[in-house]
Amino acid sequence: MATRKRLKKQVYIVLGIIVIIFIVSIVGINKYQEYKYHQTYEYKFLEQGYNANEVKILLNNIEEEKKLIFLLKEEKNSKIINILEEKYYLDKNFYNYIDYMQNNTELDAKEIVRNINIHLNYDFYETKLNTDTSVDTSMLVNKYYTLSNDYEPDDLVNVSQNYAWGDIGSQKVREVAYNAFLDMWNAAHDSGYYLMINSSYRSYADQEAVYENYKKISGESGADKIAARPGSSEHQTGLAIDIFSKTNTNKNTFADTEEAKWLANNAYKYGFILRYPEDKVDITGYSYEAWHYRYVGVDIATYIYKNDITFEEYYAYYIEK
Ligand SMILES: [Zn+2]
Repeated sequence: MATRKRLKKQVYIVLGIIVIIFIVSIVGINKYQEYKYHQTYEYKFLEQGYNANEVKILLNNIEEEKKLIFLLKEEKNSKIINILEEKYYLDKNFYNYIDYMQNNTELDAKEIVRNINIHLNYDFYETKLNTDTSVDTSMLVNKYYTLSNDYEPDDLVNVSQNYAWGDIGSQKVREVAYNAFLDMWNAAHDSGYYLMINSSYRSYADQEAVYENYKKISGESGADKIAARPGSSEHQTGLAIDIFSKTNTNKNTFADTEEAKWLANNAYKYGFILRYPEDKVDITGYSYEAWHYRYVGVDIATYIYKNDITFEEYYAYYIEK
């Protein structure tokens, strides 16, 4: 009897120990899991004040760990979420976006992404970048990206006097742009319009003469308002043409003509874009020029037309990357 009792007692002790080990393990595992969770970025960003959805976007969009660590050191700012979700967000500009956002609190996410992508955080001509001519008809020339003084396209052709003013040889464009122009000219003609080219290829030296002349009269800031500095004119690419009509070559009134309206709505079908639109002056750095068209090819021109963006924005996202 005594042996059985002792055995029973021992069984209880063993069971008790098992129960204790079990409870300790459960608590331990829980504590460990809690500890592990506190080490996750999800927890850290929630603690920083981002909501669950924002945390999801942060973690889905940011791949590099050092960027997450960087953000954890910054104050919580939901605009970062909007930036990450912007259509033209470029990961290479991540730190620049954040820095620019913090210094320009009045700008929204779209403006932040756009301005950084196309260098609008710098003043015009403040930063000098070389135009990448290897991308051919997609090359960007503006107040940041400039052509060297010896850049000259090797496939310039003379514009027929049927479509341009001046002596033969005074108007030249690159062959690819000329062929596209002829198609466009015919389509316009079929609609009852007679287009005429007023200005086309200009060499670096030509542009220098134009700019220096304005500078003499109105000083540098005055000249900058009217003309591009040498190397910064799209006309040096041989892909830009100033198009007017046979009956109107007036820069002040051409915009209101039927020809200007036809061009604005149809040029993209032939690979041309209205390069300096009325509502994009702050982005392009150029006043509205209803006559200045730039050849970029049908695909790019169509995208730019349909999405209502500038060539600067397109270039930053799709060409330069
Ligand atoms: Zn022009």
